[in-house]
Amino acid sequence: MGSATLFISDLHLPVAASPLRDAFARFLAGPARQARALYILGDLFEVWIGDDAGLSEYSVERACLRALTGAGVPVYFQHGNRDFLVGRDFAAATGVRILADPLKLDLHGVPTLISHGDLYCTDDVRYQRWRAFSRRPAVQAVYRTLPLSWRDRIAGGVRADSAAHKRATAIDIMDVNDGAIRGAFREHGVTRMIHGHTHRPATHEYDLGGRPCRRFVLADWHPGRCEALHVDDAGVQRIPIAS
Ligand code: MN
Repeated sequence: MGSATLFISDLHLPVAASPLRDAFARFLAGPARQARALYILGDLFEVWIGDDAGLSEYSVERACLRALTGAGVPVYFQHGNRDFLVGRDFAAATGVRILADPLKLDLHGVPTLISHGDLYCTDDVRYQRWRAFSRRPAVQAVYRTLPLSWRDRIAGGVRADSAAHKRATAIDIMDVNDGAIRGAFREHGVTRMIHGHTHRPATHEYDLGGRPCRRFVLADWHPGRCEALHVDDAGVQRIPIAS
């Protein structure tokens, strides 16, 4: 077992062939094998309209994840806003464990809160309304019964609507809310947060009543610029992933 825990998010792997998909497969077969654990904090997949469709569209990723968990490396997944329908069949097929969001971990001795991050974008009221609706078990149960072509069309409509909303919304509204972040540090009693979603990789420092805290925002992946967060007993670093 390796000594470092790795975190990635926001790969947004497309259904079509892509250098990003190749980079992810090589990462799983290479650096990830040396990890103590791998955490995928959401938006691994650009589109996931159900495990039935997703497991066949992303059969390469399914096999690579299965090989990694089969080799004894625990892999954990939190839902992103693109792949929140990743479900039990995905977990069974890959050996990946699906986690609640947010979740508190004791990470190499530091109390750490992990999340996809969209939960903390509270200024985007319209998005939070959609998020609450789309995460209802009853809504998802109905959606899952629809034929594939309907699910595909609905998901396409949601993506187009979300793209238009992003273009029309001030950039700051799409970022996490400072009060929501400070509240999460306090509520969960952590000194470190790790999340993705905003595609604004950075490390933020806080002073919460004299307690120094840090928030690590994971990098989204692009060909030529892929990154993982590497955490071990010595601390946190960003490591480039070959792509
Ligand atoms: Mn996201």
